[in-house]
Amino acid sequence: MIPSQESIAIAGAGLVGSLLGVYLAQRGYRVDLYEGRPDPRIGNVYQGRSINLALSDRGWAALEKVGLAQAIRAEAIPMVERVIHGIDGSLTTQPYGEAGQAIYSVSRAGINQRLISLAEQHEQVSLHFEYRLTQVDFASGTAGFDTPAGTVQIAPQRLFGADGANSKIRRLMQELPRMNFSLETMDVAYIELNIPANADGSHQLGPIEALHIWPRDQFMLIALPNLDGSFTCTLFMDFDGPNSFASLQGAPAIQAFFETQFPDVAALLETPAQHFIERAPSPLALVDVYPWVQANRICLIGDACHAIVPFYGQGMNAGFEDCRILDELLEQMEGDWEQVLPAFQQSRKANVAAIATLAKRNYIEMSRLTGQPSFLLRKKIEAK
Ligand code: FAD
Repeated sequence: MIPSQESIAIAGAGLVGSLLGVYLAQRGYRVDLYEGRPDPRIGNVYQGRSINLALSDRGWAALEKVGLAQAIRAEAIPMVERVIHGIDGSLTTQPYGEAGQAIYSVSRAGINQRLISLAEQHEQVSLHFEYRLTQVDFASGTAGFDTPAGTVQIAPQRLFGADGANSKIRRLMQELPRMNFSLETMDVAYIELNIPANADGSHQLGPIEALHIWPRDQFMLIALPNLDGSFTCTLFMDFDGPNSFASLQGAPAIQAFFETQFPDVAALLETPAQHFIERAPSPLALVDVYPWVQANRICLIGDACHAIVPFYGQGMNAGFEDCRILDELLEQMEGDWEQVLPAFQQSRKANVAAIATLAKRNYIEMSRLTGQPSFLLRKKIEAK
C-alpha cells in the first residue's frame, strides 16, 4: 500500500531526476522536483554537455515503462553500425548487431524536456526551477536551497540526490563517517564540434544511420547524427603531452591538425579552430561512492553515485535503469522504503561497477582497435 501523501523531494531535474519524478508520480507519491538551473524548456541550459547521446536497450526499457518510448523513438536516429574513417579517407563499417538491432542517437535537451513535461502532467508533482540545493541535515532529513527569492528549507519524507556527477548531496554525504568515495579523473578530455546541415536540411556526412569514428590511437573524433541534419562531433584527446589539447596552440596549428588527421571531414566542421580557442576542453571522471543511502531516507541516484566515462554510451542508460529497478522494488516490497532503499543500492552496485569497467575499456577499443585491419567484421563502403 502506498501512502499517497508521502512527500518525496528530488534534487536535480536532469535526465535521471526527471524520469524518477515520473516513476514516483505514477506510483501516487507527492513529488517535488528541484532543479538548480532555469526551466530547460524556456532557454538553452545545456552548454558544455553532450548535445546528443546514444540510447540503448536499458534506457528504452525504462522509458517504455513510463509510456515515453514511442514518442522518443519518433525523434531518434538508429545507428546500426560504426563507420570507421581511415586517415586515407577510406570508410569501413562494423555492425552493432544483427539486422534490426541498433543504438539510437537522441537529443539530450529533447528527452529532458519531454520528461519534465510528463512529470508536470501529474497533479501531485511540483516543479521548482532555480532551486540550488546547498545544504542537507542528514539526521533530520531537511535540506536547504538557494533560490532567487532567498533561502528555502524543506523537510520531505525522502530526498533523492539526482544532481549529477558533481552532486552537492554526495559531497555533503562524503563528510559523514563510514563513507567510501573515489573520483578518478581521466587524462582524456573532450571538445564538441558541429557539422551543420546542408542548406536543404540534409546531412553533409553519410551514412546517416551510423556512429562515425576517426580512430587515431592517441585520440579520436566521433560523430552522432541529429534530426536537424547536423552531426555532433566530439574530439577526445589527452589534456597534456604530445598530440594533446595543450599541444594545439593557435588557429593555424589547429587547422593543420584537422586537415592532416581528419582530411575527409575537416572542411565540413564548423570553425574548429575558433571552438578550440574559445572553449576549454571538458574533463571526464568516474565517481564511485558507497553507501548511496543515509538514514533510509536520503538516496543518491544516477551520475550522483555512479558517473562514468562516455565511451560505452551507458551513463544515462544506467541512470534510467536505476529508476526502473527502484520502481520494481517499490512494487515488490509494497512501498516499504525501509526495505526498498537498501535493496536498491545493493542490487545496482555490482551492475554500475561493471559498466564503469566496460566504459573505461571501450576508449581503447574505439580510439585504437576499431582502426586495426583485424578488428571485427569490416566492409568497405563508398564515401557519401
Ligand atoms: P545530469 O544529467 O548531470 O543532471 C543533473 C541535474 O542536476 C542537472 O539538471 C543539474 O542542473 C542539476 N543540479 C546539479 N546540482 C544541483 C543542485 N545543487 N541543486 C539542484 N539541482 C542541481 N550517457 C549515455 O547513456 N549515452 C551516451 O551516449 C552518453 N554520452 C555522453 C557524452 C558526454 C560527452 C558526456 C559528458 C556524458 C555522456 N553520457 C552518456 C552520460 C550522461 O550524460 C549522464 O550519465 C547523464 O546525464 C546522467 O544523468 P543525471 O540526471 O544523473 O545527471
